[in-house]
Amino acid sequence: MSQIQAVRGTKDILAPDIDLWRIVENISSNLLDLANYKEIRIPIFENSNLYTKSLGQVTDVVQKEMYNFTDRGKRELTLRPEGTAGVARAFIENKLYAHNLPQRVWYCGPMFRYERPQSGRQRQFHQLGLECIGSSDPRVDVEIIVLALDILQSLHITNLELEINSLGNHQVRKIYREVLYNYFSQYKEELDSEAKIRLETNPLRLLDSKDPKLTNLLKEAPSILNYLDQTSSENFQLVCNYLDSISINYVVNPKLVRGLDYYNNTTFEIKSKTLGAQDTICGGGRYDTLIESLGGPPIPAVGWAMGMERLLLSIPDSTFSLSKSLDCYLITIGEEAQTYSLKLVYQLRKLNLKIDFSLTKSNLSKQIKKASQLQALTCLIIGEEELKNQTILCKWLESREQEVINMSEISIIADKIKVYKENVSLNI
Ligand code: ATP
Ligand code: MG
Repeated sequence: MSQIQAVRGTKDILAPDIDLWRIVENISSNLLDLANYKEIRIPIFENSNLYTKSLGQVTDVVQKEMYNFTDRGKRELTLRPEGTAGVARAFIENKLYAHNLPQRVWYCGPMFRYERPQSGRQRQFHQLGLECIGSSDPRVDVEIIVLALDILQSLHITNLELEINSLGNHQVRKIYREVLYNYFSQYKEELDSEAKIRLETNPLRLLDSKDPKLTNLLKEAPSILNYLDQTSSENFQLVCNYLDSISINYVVNPKLVRGLDYYNNTTFEIKSKTLGAQDTICGGGRYDTLIESLGGPPIPAVGWAMGMERLLLSIPDSTFSLSKSLDCYLITIGEEAQTYSLKLVYQLRKLNLKIDFSLTKSNLSKQIKKASQLQALTCLIIGEEELKNQTILCKWLESREQEVINMSEISIIADKIKVYKENVSLNI
């Protein structure tokens, strides 16, 4: 029978990589906690119309990338392609607006988009994201940008570039859309069929086209910043001033329109210059009308999402030492010792030791070799002799020194391992 393989664009996350994932999750959740963001866990699938309504009908995600399916109850469902729409739905459904505003939440989990898999682009990928719902204060825009940079820098990711833009309010976008339509219409013959469709359906999307033939046209394209109304313009100026006040470097990129329809005013992306073509690690912005458009009260919000896979690819090698070692490997010889092994493993684990034990009957030297392969610090051996004397033979694998410890005093093992580890970390 042919072997069943993982679905294209999905990946198993195995050891030792999983240790890095956990480090990233721990560092980021601690920083988010310090900023008073609470974790939210929302379902992985939702009613399809949640996404068609919020992301926009003529976006790449909705038109080409969604994993839609009908369940046995004939419900039209979608595996979530992003987190914001689900968070907004949960916010409304659980009436979180009735509590203190703003509500600050973060999430981390798998997202699903039908895209061409390549480095930093999968069909099941993971996003770490946050939303601050209930304030239009531009300081929040800056606070969340700083938080994203802080997370990335805490993970030793350097060579980051922050790009910001403002999309103004929906009226501004409507006017600008028209301006762009008129501009690109003059050069229709230079547009390929995909660009022609974008021109008719969503001309703003032409701005993030990667087609080299459009480079010059894009350079000359009118800038949205010239069409901002006074409030949007003042708002954007404040965001820039606040960033300046805390010495955060940024580049204003008037072509940064972002892929989804719900954004207004501030949009931003954080790119890593060390990543290849897929260089955006984090993207976000304001979405002041989304909650209302989904049936909630008119409450402004802002948020971002980071691609975990791209983030992990950007962490320099050997930034974090991943613990490969075991504290103890237990070898028991003879049936009576084997029975005792279960109790001892349990007792050692209670002493906070990382322990594994042998399940084979192969000879002692082979078993010790296995302990070395597992990078155990100590090998604990119990044979007939030890059982008779109620002792354990403790062999330090690095120095090959060994000592005899009374079974009633196993905490000595834990103490010695602790001292050993402290010395090792002092020597680094
Ligand atoms: P891109 O232009 O790379 O497709 P996007 O604008 O579609 O990105 P967002 O919806 O803003 O992406 O998602 C935020 C982040 O999630 C991206 O910056 C990226 O790091 C990550 N991301 C998006 N799609 C994928 C994917 N298919 N595989 C891996 N990471 C992804
Ligand atoms: Mg995309």
